[in-house]
Amino acid sequence: MVQEKIIGRFAPSPSGPLHFGSLACALASYLDAKVRGGQWLVRMEDLDPPREIKGASQHILNQLEAHSLCWDGQVLFQSQRLDAYAEVISSLKEVQLAYHCQCNRKRITELSGLYDNHCRTLDLDGQNNATRLALLHQIDIISFDDEFIGHVSQSLRSTVGDFIIKRRDGLFSYQLAVTVDDAFQAVTRVVRGSDLLNSTPRQIYLQQCLGYKQPSYAHVPIAVTSDGQKLSKQNLATGLPAGHESSNLCVALDWLQQSPPHKLSSLPTAEIISWAIQNWDQNKLPTNLTVPAPKGF
Ligand code: GLU
Ligand code: ZN
Repeated sequence: MVQEKIIGRFAPSPSGPLHFGSLACALASYLDAKVRGGQWLVRMEDLDPPREIKGASQHILNQLEAHSLCWDGQVLFQSQRLDAYAEVISSLKEVQLAYHCQCNRKRITELSGLYDNHCRTLDLDGQNNATRLALLHQIDIISFDDEFIGHVSQSLRSTVGDFIIKRRDGLFSYQLAVTVDDAFQAVTRVVRGSDLLNSTPRQIYLQQCLGYKQPSYAHVPIAVTSDGQKLSKQNLATGLPAGHESSNLCVALDWLQQSPPHKLSSLPTAEIISWAIQNWDQNKLPTNLTVPAPKGF
């Protein structure tokens, strides 16, 4: 049997520097690809200019390199892909899978977040309106086998409804861009934080609508603060400490329960990464969706 070439990826948003949680996630996806002899791509998800911090993209790339997490090929910037997203939306409109929605936030809030498909049959134009993807009648439950978590299934109709693929302010949604680009980059394996587990069924549905191949998914725990919140740029302004890359990697490996030996942290980052590739064992990963970040991060 010819083995399919593995292509993994890390897709940070440049809303701040890498923090411990994003490093652990990058490391897990890197190791997952490399133990299978695959490629590891980096895609910058710079689709939301108001939330972008100036210089963050370059800073993240420098941080990855400093941790010897070297990507294959060129970094793909989503800000360069707007024409491709627009084209995909046109094609979805052509087959009546996408439509415009004029509902304001107040109305959606009143519906408690689950959209009632109000505008589906109104045939509105795109001016100042959002674009939604219609859920086909015959499809409701989307299921997949997560490599780390096991079987996952979600009823799109009762949890998300027809969802937004382009916002009224003209920004393309994360769900649309991530799906188009995973296919464009021929990604076969998505390893990312468990906070995105809920988004995966929407992405699989989009893949089905667009005739894309489905990558396999593996969600790793996310690092949380002592009160259970996701480590983020919002609650943790400090990025990873520079100059402590070897130690950062070892703490991340330990957090991923890979049992790195003590002496590893005195080695250069490249040697830590080769140890990690040789010793990576996905069965040792914590099985919880969230794991407290280590002290000091
Ligand atoms: N850009 C997203 C984030 O920073 C991750 C997207 C993904 O891995 O699918 O949370
Ligand atoms: Zn509407």
